[in-house]
Amino acid sequence: MPLGLTDTYTYSVPDGIACPQAGMRVLVPLGTKTYVGIVLHADITLPPTLDSKRVKPITLVPDKQPIITAQQLHLWQWIADYYLSPIGDVMAAALPAKATDKVYELDKVPRRIKLPIYTDAVEGIHPLSTAQQAALESIGQQWLKKDVVLLHGVTSSGKTEVYMHLIESQLNAGKQVLYLVPEIALTTQLTNRLSKVFGDKLWVYHSRISDGQRMEVYRQLVTTNQPRLIVGARSAVFLPFHNLGLIIVDEEHEPSYKQQDPAPRYHARSVAIMMASMAKAKVLLGTATPAIETYHNAMVGKYGYVEMSERYAGLQLPRMTLIDLTHQYHRKEMYGHFADPLVARMREELNKHKQVILFQNRRGYAPLLICDACGHSPKCPDCDVPLTLHLQDRELRCHYCGYKQPIPQLCPECGGGLRIRGFGTERLEDEVHQLFPEARVARLDWDTTRNKNDYEDIIGAFGRHEVDILIGTQMVTKGLHFDDVSLVAVLSADHLFNNSDYTSFERSYQMLEQVSGRAGRKGTQGEVVIQTWDTAHPVFKYLQEHNYKGLYNEQVREREQYRFPPFFRLLVITLRHTEARLTQSAADALQVQLGHIFGNRCSVVITPAIAKIQRYYLRQIRLRIESTANQSKAKQLLAAEIRSLQKDTTLRRVQILVDVDPN
Ligand code: ADP
Ligand code: ZN
Repeated sequence: MPLGLTDTYTYSVPDGIACPQAGMRVLVPLGTKTYVGIVLHADITLPPTLDSKRVKPITLVPDKQPIITAQQLHLWQWIADYYLSPIGDVMAAALPAKATDKVYELDKVPRRIKLPIYTDAVEGIHPLSTAQQAALESIGQQWLKKDVVLLHGVTSSGKTEVYMHLIESQLNAGKQVLYLVPEIALTTQLTNRLSKVFGDKLWVYHSRISDGQRMEVYRQLVTTNQPRLIVGARSAVFLPFHNLGLIIVDEEHEPSYKQQDPAPRYHARSVAIMMASMAKAKVLLGTATPAIETYHNAMVGKYGYVEMSERYAGLQLPRMTLIDLTHQYHRKEMYGHFADPLVARMREELNKHKQVILFQNRRGYAPLLICDACGHSPKCPDCDVPLTLHLQDRELRCHYCGYKQPIPQLCPECGGGLRIRGFGTERLEDEVHQLFPEARVARLDWDTTRNKNDYEDIIGAFGRHEVDILIGTQMVTKGLHFDDVSLVAVLSADHLFNNSDYTSFERSYQMLEQVSGRAGRKGTQGEVVIQTWDTAHPVFKYLQEHNYKGLYNEQVREREQYRFPPFFRLLVITLRHTEARLTQSAADALQVQLGHIFGNRCSVVITPAIAKIQRYYLRQIRLRIESTANQSKAKQLLAAEIRSLQKDTTLRRVQILVDVDPN
């Protein structure tokens, strides 16, 4: 099949060219162009449905060995089927860009490309504590019975050290290891620590290494079966392994393991588990805050389960304090968005030369400009969202499509005065400068980390205590360790709950527990201060007790009652077109058909909260299928209905995207 296209085609092999094997690249004609394609099957006879005169011959076979292993092809086909994504899209996501280069030679070592290899191994591995040793042994025992084990260890329990011991024994046994982390956690903090122990056996694979390096990691893995440790973001599940012994999925609850767009909309954790089962390897899922679904699988005995409930070296989990914003505003005991008691606590810690992290999961200065007179707020012309105010760059910006415009002085509708509503990290930074003029402040969010080294520069400076206060979005929650951080504050917990999605409770718990895990690393107990309008929200009770199990029990009961995962599987079908009426007609037509087949498992046509993105009007249909039912049957029925809709000459103009297991 030609790369870059979604369909598969049949070609013949002319005399004089040796028949290529599955997984090899070939050059093929298509239309007036020549494409690089991948051989999916090489059969001796032509399928009877094809007219032999119309089958074109391939032009050239550049590879002497497959660039894609049989195991990869098998896995990619599974991804295509499971996520209802054309195999061509899977290949485009899976192969490094350079592999589709007509002149790229697989068996030639490129000059000038330096592998993302670190130093030589310079230190040994730390000996484990008693609790870590017990966890290590328990994992080994569980693996005798189950292929997947959940390591549920509180923040700073020393999970990473346990991983390192497991990795070492795999490498010593000549095996390869895949260590998946959320993209943002791929900092020098983790890779330095690993490279000191594993030296040049460690390779990294993520979006911030160059195309050449990505290709070189891929090429070497295709051609080697040496023991290797690959640390990578979600796309590392597509790499070729020959001797895979173990996959570690660190922070397995992280939403960023799910690819949203474009297709294939895969979940790297699910793919990793399938990949390991094909390779007869083991999987370790590690986290302090498991995904409800993962924990459920452990509780029903599908996965093994190992718990580490204490922090390493007797450190205490942080103390959590709530600040009631209703009360604070009422008594006018606020400075900007900071309640007075929080300011006092920050001052105390800064006086003790400690560091503070401020968390606000919104970037920009403020999410809304609103007219006092008529209530109008400037919206993106292409998306159904208000524009975010970015005061430093003197712009209004759309966070969905990147549209920007100057900040209007007056309301464009009625000429009234515009008021700033809400706050993002930029506004907090301003207020912090006013409150603590002598403090050294840094901001970590999407806007301050657009250049290659920004993220590591900011984290590095904070780690060296060249910064006293770090303000950030969820980027600050990801598995970082700073010894001098004694206070973490969440400026507004409430908009974490406002999401109407069934996962919002789980997600807000995970985010708050993870961000609080950054407090109190060495010496004293750390503190987390959370400002909220709703101190009675049940999530706080679980957080204050660090009671994951309680949260799980409540969530699982609700999800069973309201027919959500893990009891039901969700399929979200999104229809998009630039004409709202056409989108609606296609959605209506599809919904009627699906309703006949799936009955009450099929929703009505839903207009999403953000109904237009980048000029495309959106409609959705949701299917929920009992997790005990035959999923692939359901998917086949859905795919058939979509194909049949696409026979309609008008409605076929509407794009239909399917998201399997959307969370
Ligand atoms: P987690 O991954 O569970 O959050 P880490 O493995 O990163 O925790 O450990 C937290 C801290 O404790 C790190 O700074 C780490 O260096 C230290 N630590 C953990 N285990 C050991 C050990 N066995 N020997 C020395 N230091 C350790
Ligand atoms: Zn927009």
